[in-house]
Amino acid sequence: MHEAGLARAAVAALVDATAGEFVRTVVLAVGTGVDVDSAAAAWHGAAGGTCLEACVVEWRRVSDRLRCFACGREYDGERLDLCPACGGNGIVIRAADELAVVDWTT
Ligand SMILES: [Zn+2]
Repeated sequence: MHEAGLARAAVAALVDATAGEFVRTVVLAVGTGVDVDSAAAAWHGAAGGTCLEACVVEWRRVSDRLRCFACGREYDGERLDLCPACGGNGIVIRAADELAVVDWTT
């Protein structure tokens, strides 16, 4: 599963960053294309047996950045979301990371 690889990479990065110190809380950001429930299940699978096993996870949904074809306005949303200014179609100019570690406490 796609989320499993993302979760394993995030766990490995955090284990590295904390040098194996026990982590109490972590804030994770997921992009618009990622299912939070699947990501959470994958996270628990990947975190088992590591210093992250017992940590409390806060999930945040992050948006992509789009630009409107019609008026040029930039706005946050998901692919195919319409421009809030004119209702035109926009294109994703910067996609959010699929799974990113935002913050943690030890
Ligand atoms: Zn527009």
